[in-house]
Amino acid sequence: MFRIGFGYDSHRFAPGRVLILGGVRIDGSPGLAGHSDADAVLHAITDAILGAVGEGDIGEEFPDTDDRWAGADSSLFVAEALRLAAIKGYAPANCDVTVIADSPKLQPHKPKMRQRISELLGLPIDAVSVKAKTNEGMGFVGRGEGLAVMAAVMLHKLTQV
Ligand code: MG
Repeated sequence: MFRIGFGYDSHRFAPGRVLILGGVRIDGSPGLAGHSDADAVLHAITDAILGAVGEGDIGEEFPDTDDRWAGADSSLFVAEALRLAAIKGYAPANCDVTVIADSPKLQPHKPKMRQRISELLGLPIDAVSVKAKTNEGMGFVGRGEGLAVMAAVMLHKLTQV
């Protein structure tokens, strides 16, 4: 009755772009490079949903060679993944996200991200978790080249009506 999916994403920082994470605009930081709005949080969540129902990955569903997705609001990807899951009878049960970034400081933005993700997934707020970690100066995150996101999404089978 349950399926679990795991998603990972990373993007480079790109000066001049707007930083959007978890559907929330975060001012005062470089944005992320990407074909869409580069929302790495929603990309990881999308992959987790797709993974849970065996529907491939975000790159197959929304190729960055497709102009339709240029600058796209990544909530569209989440919505499409949810649609594919619903066809198989599954809906989200909970979502747990970890963002790994040495900068900007994400602590103040976690409540809004959590709220927005709960809206997108149709979940109560206590079924959504957003955690922020630093990489303590190590690797590409530590060098400030970009950030990474991990997400787990549990889906439950909807009961027949
Ligand atoms: Mg991505």
